[in-house]
Amino acid sequence: MEKVVSLAKRRGFIFPGSEIYGGYQGFWDYGPAGVELKNNVKREWWKAMVYAREDVVGVDAAIIMNPIVWENSGHLKALVDPLVECKVCHKRFRADNEEVIKKHEESHDEKDIWTEAKTFNLMTEVLLGTTEPKEKSYLRGEITQGVFVNFKNVVDSTRIKIPFGIGQIGKAFRNEITPGNLTFRSREFEQMELEYFVKPDEKDSEKTFEEFKEIRINWYKDLGMDSKKLHFHDHEPEKRAHYAKYATDIEYEAPFGWSEMEGIHHRGDFDLGNHGLKYHDNLTNEEYTPWVIETSGGVDRAALFFLIDSYREDGERVYLKLDPRIAPYKVAVFPLLANKPELLEKARGIYKELKKDLVVTWDDRGNIGKRYFAQDEIGTPWCVTVDFQTLNDSTVTVRDRDTGKQERINIDKLSEYFQNKLR
Ligand code: ATP
Repeated sequence: MEKVVSLAKRRGFIFPGSEIYGGYQGFWDYGPAGVELKNNVKREWWKAMVYAREDVVGVDAAIIMNPIVWENSGHLKALVDPLVECKVCHKRFRADNEEVIKKHEESHDEKDIWTEAKTFNLMTEVLLGTTEPKEKSYLRGEITQGVFVNFKNVVDSTRIKIPFGIGQIGKAFRNEITPGNLTFRSREFEQMELEYFVKPDEKDSEKTFEEFKEIRINWYKDLGMDSKKLHFHDHEPEKRAHYAKYATDIEYEAPFGWSEMEGIHHRGDFDLGNHGLKYHDNLTNEEYTPWVIETSGGVDRAALFFLIDSYREDGERVYLKLDPRIAPYKVAVFPLLANKPELLEKARGIYKELKKDLVVTWDDRGNIGKRYFAQDEIGTPWCVTVDFQTLNDSTVTVRDRDTGKQERINIDKLSEYFQNKLR
């Protein structure tokens, strides 16, 4: 873990938030490589969960909502109970539920695992307005409610019919008591969620729940995550969130233990019911409160686990074996020697041309070995070097990150060569 933390900082993935002022607990900033990785994770999610499906549309709701939303969603009530948090696995429990507390202590074989019992609210309060008393609202604790409050708007403004889903990616905020493990538990983070609305039916909804479990775990595997480090962890009834009918987590085996990366929840009619929303089927004239199957992933946790999972050491060489689709830069372009204007000019031309279609980076510092070293640590799948032969035959070397092998490719074919690899 330390090695990944240090690489993340050194190579511009993740920096401590407000670092020049000593940082700020639970807040992180993404650097030039990190923002690309995170955007790629979000783009791949949107492609798979929204664009590739006929039955899903997207929304982008406001972070601050009318506080009544949080009253009706159950968050204010659910989150002001006396709670204790397990210092080992960060699960929170009602302090007054003795049976559950005892069972949890047994699972860790230890009793001294609890934070002090507090009636705390994980919702981050904000004060709005310019005159006193200011109006109290909240930064959203989950992005989910922004979808539910727009349920009717989406139905009325599109041609979508049940079963259908609404996807959303955005920031959420929680006053976590024990932030830690880099971005794993932060106070500001991003979620990528699908709320999938179905007709109330025990059997059908369970089938949909099972289907989404597979869709979601396969998404991580398809993007290269080690399948041996992924599993489902079903929630026992007493551990389920206040809204869940049944729930499972996709967990990743991190250096700090199996950890939740995404939750798949059967929320039943809890949310639409709380907001008094119904669906009218124009064909059958039926009216009902749909049930909801939710897939709720953390963008930061996914990005962190992709970093950890892709970390490789091969003798002296360290590289990130990131899937090219999520690697921050697809290609790096170098002139063999930075002090030869003819090489520099040729390489700049190739760099600018490739940049039209791909995210490309440039490096002309130090020697070629050092540049490969740096690009390996950022996870750049291919490095293009412009050398003296290029000036004669218009070919460049393309070096593969994972195998270290080099081949010569004609400049005219370069863009197509990479596009084919990225397909
Ligand atoms: P945990 O038990 O780890 O606190 P949770 O069960 O409260 O998580 P959910 O409310 O199900 O989490 O949120 C869905 C997803 O949002 C999580 O699977 C996780 O990826 C992400 N997430 C939740 N809280 C945080 C946080 N504090 N920092 C980063 N990501 C988070």
